Amino acid sequence: MGKLLIVGTVAFDEIETPFGKTDKILGGAATFIGLAASQYNVESAIVSVVGEDLPQAYLDVLKAKNIDLTSLEIVKGGKTFYWKGKYHNDLNSRDTLVTELNTLADFNPVVPEDFKDADVVMLGNLHPSTQLSVINQMKKRPRLIVLDTMNFWMDNALPELTEVIKHIDVLTINDEEARQLTKEYSLVKAAKVIQEMGPKYLVIKKGEHGALLFHEGKIFFAPALPLEEVFDPTGAGDTFAGGFSGYLAATEDLSFNNMKNAVIHGSNLASFSVEKFGTDRMQELKKDEVNKRLHQFKALTQFDIELQ
Ligand code: AMP
Repeated sequence: MGKLLIVGTVAFDEIETPFGKTDKILGGAATFIGLAASQYNVESAIVSVVGEDLPQAYLDVLKAKNIDLTSLEIVKGGKTFYWKGKYHNDLNSRDTLVTELNTLADFNPVVPEDFKDADVVMLGNLHPSTQLSVINQMKKRPRLIVLDTMNFWMDNALPELTEVIKHIDVLTINDEEARQLTKEYSLVKAAKVIQEMGPKYLVIKKGEHGALLFHEGKIFFAPALPLEEVFDPTGAGDTFAGGFSGYLAATEDLSFNNMKNAVIHGSNLASFSVEKFGTDRMQELKKDEVNKRLHQFKALTQFDIELQ
């Protein structure tokens, strides 16, 4: 069984979409990644920090999926990372209304001894220095290091972000973030620039318009499954990253061809995540539902064209 080390926020999220709003609910990059990766045959652990204000029931959600939480630090008297966002009517764009780092502001991550030899490290959205510290604690170079980030860190910690991405294999970001990072409008040009910055593989997520995988001169495209209803896109990117890295850790095949499959697995799981608020859909998701939708994915993209 492959070992997957996950780093990222475990958070309080407060979300407003055209369909309603929530109070503070369970969210965070590592949470969505962990729930998605639990669909695969992997041993996983989360490195993160929360405050004492996070209800035990939220941690139990992760424990129930057999995710190792020994390195999830609970700071006495501390407050958990809090993010509040509001989606526009098209659900493709959102405004971040509040980001409170709280305990995350001076977090020193500690990688659990058992995971210092993890096969795959999934560095979820978090301060880039924290992401780098985790890489530096590994006993041997993991077979694959995947990193996800967002505009917040490009705005607030660009030098640190530029440093950490020199050490990774796969970067996953969305189209606007790829443009912000490279100052290139064309995603093909942006992909070239990013590959020169370090990662040999790049995934550009385009929300309801699917995802692109770049490697050397090659490009692979996976659509997003057209859904009747999208309820709350929060965590779709992290769910994608969890499916992508979880599938690769489980299959232990890191070829470009298998990475294409990983992109499909990530997109497939993301299509569930958006169907309910927060983590609700991912908590209840069953293997047979996942498999059924993979068949739909295959049918959606398969065609028989005669080529000369
Ligand atoms: P996504 O919709 O995939 O971009 O991820 C949304 C999740 O990212 C939410 O659950 C938030 O708690 C978390 N999040 C939002 N802003 C940040 C940030 N600056 N750093 C780390 N995690 C964040």
